[in-house]
Amino acid sequence: MSDIRYDLLHDDYALIAPERLRRPDCYKTGKKSSESEFSDRKKCPFCEGREHLTPHEIFAIRDNDPDEPGWKTRVVPNLYKAVQIETPWQSEEVGIYEKWSGFGAHEVVIDTPRHLTRMDDWSEEEYFNWLYTLRSRLNDLKNDSRLVYISLFKNHGHYGGATQSHPHTQIIALAALPYRQRQLLLHAHNFYKSHGHSLFESVLHMELDDKKRIVAENDIFAAICPYASTFTFETYIVCKKPHAFLNDLDDNGLEALADLLSQTIKALYRQVGDFDFNILFNTPAMHKNAQTEDFFDDTDKMWRIGVRILPRLYRLGGFELSSGVKINPLDPDEAASLLRGSIKERE
Ligand SMILES: [Zn+2]
Repeated sequence: MSDIRYDLLHDDYALIAPERLRRPDCYKTGKKSSESEFSDRKKCPFCEGREHLTPHEIFAIRDNDPDEPGWKTRVVPNLYKAVQIETPWQSEEVGIYEKWSGFGAHEVVIDTPRHLTRMDDWSEEEYFNWLYTLRSRLNDLKNDSRLVYISLFKNHGHYGGATQSHPHTQIIALAALPYRQRQLLLHAHNFYKSHGHSLFESVLHMELDDKKRIVAENDIFAAICPYASTFTFETYIVCKKPHAFLNDLDDNGLEALADLLSQTIKALYRQVGDFDFNILFNTPAMHKNAQTEDFFDDTDKMWRIGVRILPRLYRLGGFELSSGVKINPLDPDEAASLLRGSIKERE
């Protein structure tokens, strides 16, 4: 049983999830993803043919029966879940403290049947199927009006926080909007109220005009190295059209996003070599409740779909943890120029 606790000392939240302690750590400390040998690949529960090692699948792209080989992507409940859907949603005061039951959904998307593939080795079809699967899960989870926030993220490699080397993505849906997310949405809403358009539009306008930090673009998305990139080679893929939710995209939109993700990831591998990373989707609040009612109705006007790719080339130290300010040794203008160069080389 997990619970979400308010950290009175630091005005923050912690998810206390003892089940996570049982996770196997398949990465050897300090090794890059390609160097880390999966301790026993024959036991990998995400490989095709070992469907019996995971809980029953929630979703799959396949033409045959569930929990059998023959799939392209597969979604299963996380065996080491941080939150669970069976838990009733309630809060409790503990002396001066407060906690909430660990209600929510925690799912694993198995991105491809292929074990130990790098994302620069994925086909266009694999990128599309991956995004199609994420969109399907968002559409389904959105039906539960208690789930107000859905975190969609991918950890790759030891420094990316992954404990499983088979390509996978995680979905954690919560009944509460985390503090940091609420701050971001309020910030976007304040910008919209004072400017009459979204901050994403302002940033896109500036970057498309300036061109220095554009990595690649197509009709629907642009990939940029943000002006104040907090990670080296950080790349942000932003939607040029007024879509706030990933599940607002039609198949054309998914193809456009797949195209830019594929170009960007390949360029990053060419620049950095094998590297660990996180991919974060900037999902806004999914439902209106007491926490989101101030801004929820303006979501479509103030927010745009964004995908943040964070290479984890350096570990975070005390300064970053104490101040919240990241030190990035590479000028984002230079990072974008290098990534553009890598894309041109391939053409
Ligand atoms: Zn595997």
